Amino acid sequence: MSTINEMLLNRGVTVEGIAEIVFLLQSPYNPVLTLEHCIESVQAVLQKREVQYALFTGIALDELAEQKKLPLPLQQILQKDEPLYGVDETLALSITHVYGMIGLTSFGYLDKLKPLILQKLNNKNNGIHVFLDDLVAGIAAAASARIAHNDPSAKRYDLPSF
Ligand code: MG
Repeated sequence: MSTINEMLLNRGVTVEGIAEIVFLLQSPYNPVLTLEHCIESVQAVLQKREVQYALFTGIALDELAEQKKLPLPLQQILQKDEPLYGVDETLALSITHVYGMIGLTSFGYLDKLKPLILQKLNNKNNGIHVFLDDLVAGIAAAASARIAHNDPSAKRYDLPSF
């Protein structure tokens, strides 16, 4: 069985490619952030079971659509990347939630902007990536939220005592 990194690589996605999105999201708030730090955070997100399960599911559906093996009407919906089909985003939301609410806002931002590798996944000439584009955005958003939550410069608030 291949590792999750190999599975992503087979679909044209590298950990570095996801980490570049994380850097784009977090570097305005963290002047000492490095790409290595982002890579480490993406790897941590990829170790989570719920993230791996979401990837297994989404990548399988993308590959079956490429092989034209899905039943109708799902085959047509994925082939067209039907704009009103939102199950791909819904599956990716199970990833963004892993490190709190900030992941959700970053995910929405990436969905609009589609920077870097997301641009490539959205190009219909590069195969069917209906699920993978959202899953990669979800992983980047979660890895970014993970860095934000671990930022030691972030202000901590004392709880009032009763
Ligand atoms: Mg999609």
